[in-house]
Amino acid sequence: MTSKPVETDVLVVGSGPAGATAAALLGMYGVKHILVTKYGWLADTPRAHITNQRAMEVLRDLGLEDKAVAQAVPQHLMANNVFCESLAGEEFGRLYSWGNHPSRKADYDLASPTRICDLPQNLLEPILIEAAGQRGTSLCFNTEFVDLVQDADGVTATVKDRLSGETYRALTVAPEWSIDKLGTHNAIQRALAARDAWQGRLYPTTNLRIQSSGAEVGT
Ligand SMILES: Cc1cc2nc3c(=O)[nH]c(=O)nc-3n(C[C@H](O)[C@H](O)[C@H](O)COP(=O)(O)OP(=O)(O)OC[C@H]3O[C@@H](n4cnc5c(N)ncnc54)[C@H](O)[C@@H]3O)c2cc1C
Repeated sequence: MTSKPVETDVLVVGSGPAGATAAALLGMYGVKHILVTKYGWLADTPRAHITNQRAMEVLRDLGLEDKAVAQAVPQHLMANNVFCESLAGEEFGRLYSWGNHPSRKADYDLASPTRICDLPQNLLEPILIEAAGQRGTSLCFNTEFVDLVQDADGVTATVKDRLSGETYRALTVAPEWSIDKLGTHNAIQRALAARDAWQGRLYPTTNLRIQSSGAEVGT
């Protein structure tokens, strides 16, 4: 481990939608920051995809709305949730969705100059990361957050270069700006949960995967 920590104002951990957006915004506002992320590249599956108007407004602020819209399914093609036997099978019913109900459409149109769209995470992240890099983010892939400690000098995070196995420290001298957003069950949440100030502000989530023959449904 190097004795002198790398200094930065903000350490962003993770290159998901939250971390990548934070980095792009920090770059836009000229705040010195480093983004570390655990793997060698970005999301390889769609995951988060419905992108609401508030999120689109952030992309608009970043000058990325057009790029996002160009890759997204537009709102009018997300008009229904369809319940069916299979993609080509019998349709049981459909509901208006995502602001497309005729009685609600005007509310959405008037609420914002932007529109809801469907932009999968694996398409959004490269747009954000490209913008972050162009705006001055120091991007460190294959770099894992391990732990943090806070003292009078700031927050010192230990991160590990997963290619070499070496660890080094990053000192964030503006800890009040620290941004953590890593989904659930991760190292940074555990580290923060250990600190009294964060107690009660973290919550667990559980994903359930249910397999069923369907025989008992609707009987
Ligand atoms: C299979 C699946 C399907 C999903 N489907 C949907 C959906 O249909 N609709 C929807 O809205 N949402 C969906 N989600 C949820 C959605 O992906 C999350 O809400 C969203 O990704 C959260 O964004 P985030 O930026 O907070 O975190 P994430 O996208 O989880 O990003 C976390 C980042 O932190 C990095 N990281 C983690 N630990 C460390 C560490 N110790 N050091 C450094 N980096 C680290 C990760 O590599 C990643 O880059 C799905 C998730 C999964 C897994």
